[in-house]
Amino acid sequence: MKALKDKVAVITGGASGIGAAVARLYAENGAAIAVLDRDAAAGAAVIGHLTEAGATALFAEVDVTSSDSVRQAMDSVAEQLRGIDILVTAAGILDEKPMAEMTEQDFDRTVDIDLKGVFLAGRWALPHLQARGGGRIINIASQLGIKGGTGLVHYVAAKAGVIGMTKAMALELAPEGILVNAIAPGPIDTPLLNGVTEEWKAAKRAELPLGRFGTAEEIAPTALLLASSPGGDIYVGQTLGPNSGDVMP
Ligand code: NAD
Repeated sequence: MKALKDKVAVITGGASGIGAAVARLYAENGAAIAVLDRDAAAGAAVIGHLTEAGATALFAEVDVTSSDSVRQAMDSVAEQLRGIDILVTAAGILDEKPMAEMTEQDFDRTVDIDLKGVFLAGRWALPHLQARGGGRIINIASQLGIKGGTGLVHYVAAKAGVIGMTKAMALELAPEGILVNAIAPGPIDTPLLNGVTEEWKAAKRAELPLGRFGTAEEIAPTALLLASSPGGDIYVGQTLGPNSGDVMP
């Protein structure tokens, strides 16, 4: 039987990169998919591929920094697909800049999307997960939120915040059967990396045991594992960290 049969998954940032790969893998595993993203053209293309392949899938244009936008989209998805079981928060931006050049606006923009956006998605998916009597939240953090990195003070702060928030959400929601985890990928070859310089990428690549960046398709199976927990409800508040050679490149 398919691992996510009869499940409804909402994926923020599902129009590109990691979120799109998760959407494809979840759909292959039987889930109905809702992609929430600010990029309507890319979102429509992802939904087109999913529905052509026989999946139930819909798109909602959402800015994850807007509480109203996220709440309305979650309510609408829950109405159209008859509930929400799984939330994956993959919307994010990356904008490398030395701290000496970083403005307050730069800092606020990154923290708004990469940290507050994760909170708002969880906040407005929560009533629907509760209505189901349980569910899964999988936040996409980053190795940078654990190890730090240069030129990314705002991004590192946001991702460390996502890891902390994941632990807090996991502790608070586990008694309700809502299991919350984070995935902390290393560098993954997606459009997000257009936000860093070639020098930054070369330095990063040199640190990697496999000598290459990961792919979005290499991250998606971890999101499937966390959504389905085949061994039981054993994963609560964990941050699975590819990149250091332990799980994935
Ligand atoms: P991506 O650029 O391919 O996809 C990000 C998606 O988020 C895009 O579709 C974009 O439109 C959407 N988005 C951005 N701002 C938004 C907003 N305000 N509202 C709604 N949607 C918005 O990037 P990706 O690499 O797939 O990144 C997915 C997640 O993985 C991000 O949180 C990123 O920080 C994290 N991550 C990426 C890497 C990497 O190296 N690519 C490594 C670690 C963590």
